[in-house]
Amino acid sequence: MASTESPAASGWLGELRAELAALEGRSLRRTILTPRHGQGETLSIDGRELLNLTSNNYLGLAGDPRVVEAAVEAARAYGASVSASRLLCGSTPLHEELEGRLAALKGQEAALLYSSGYLANLGVLTALARPGDAIFSDALNHASIIDGCRLSGADTKIYGHCDAEHLAELLATTPASRRLIVSETVFSMDGDIAPLPALVELARDHDAVLVIDEAHATGVLGPHGEGALARLGLDPEGVIIVGTLSKALASAGGFVAAGQTVIDYLVNRSRPFIFNTALPPASVGAALAALDIVAGEPERRAHLAALATRLRDGLMAAGHPPSDSATAIVPLLLGSADAALGAERRLRDAGILSRAIRPPTVPEGTARIRFNLIATHTTDDIDRVLAAIPPPA
Ligand SMILES: *Cc1c(COP(=O)(O)O)cnc(C)c1O
Repeated sequence: MASTESPAASGWLGELRAELAALEGRSLRRTILTPRHGQGETLSIDGRELLNLTSNNYLGLAGDPRVVEAAVEAARAYGASVSASRLLCGSTPLHEELEGRLAALKGQEAALLYSSGYLANLGVLTALARPGDAIFSDALNHASIIDGCRLSGADTKIYGHCDAEHLAELLATTPASRRLIVSETVFSMDGDIAPLPALVELARDHDAVLVIDEAHATGVLGPHGEGALARLGLDPEGVIIVGTLSKALASAGGFVAAGQTVIDYLVNRSRPFIFNTALPPASVGAALAALDIVAGEPERRAHLAALATRLRDGLMAAGHPPSDSATAIVPLLLGSADAALGAERRLRDAGILSRAIRPPTVPEGTARIRFNLIATHTTDDIDRVLAAIPPPA
């Protein structure tokens, strides 16, 4: 390797190597794991079938033949790529149909597709907030929200996780005329749900716009999979909703659902929408088929919720600390990165794939195993996981 590096590069490459070694020394180095096949409740790794508790395939639709077939049909009809942004010639009737379906699911006038949920957050925050504006952001918001806040140039105020009182204080003492409140609805690392009734009320009282990220709620929560607002019986009017197609909707891509004016504005001012090739037809077709199943098979959501309750109850009964999880994301808090990696290995030995989540993804001292359940898991699967978990420290 070293011989291919120019002398000028060896200085900074040496710095990169030292940094990687330091990460390794602190049990924080990340590596890619490549299963040989499988995207459902089992995966094949190093010749072993492992029970998969680490994917976001909440409804088990990523390998569903109806979804896969819809992706193939869409590619046959419209090609493997649309080869242009939506504003050039990259739009198809399928893109428009999917936007209509997502708007309807979210109770909004319109929706706009992005290439990922990450880009949707970047796209909405950078278009709607500018230097001089204020964004109020939950302390545990996803990296894509953090990056959107930074890139917008707005003054970003971080409020304590799910702390509506702290948010109210900050709103009362921040003079900016344009204000955005941004929060995930289901938090990706703890599976807890934001205090949405309070956020809706604070936005109204303080003349702020509420932006919510429904990455882990879309398709999973609410009587028809609408998301967290529907689960809590809240009116979505005026709320800007960000989502992803890559989790319960078994595809790839992201979206924003909002009033028509907001969507028209994003079409004209959102750089991750304007300067990005439109989603491939296969992704759009897959998401459309997944939406049909979200609507038609509510038993998947009910089973998923029952599995999560079983896992949470089992963890508590075994003496593990209770979590705030109220969803299909169930954390097992272990503290140190070493303890989390140790638990990951122990579970792997028992035939269970679950990943250790370490800083900086989660705050220092809160490393954990995060279990993500899939609607195609069985109660026996959950009992197998419970039997393999190390006893509390
Ligand atoms: C996964 C996730 C995203 C990003 O979605 P992608 O489509 O994978 O880019 C955004 N926000 C939250 C909260 C997420 O968990």
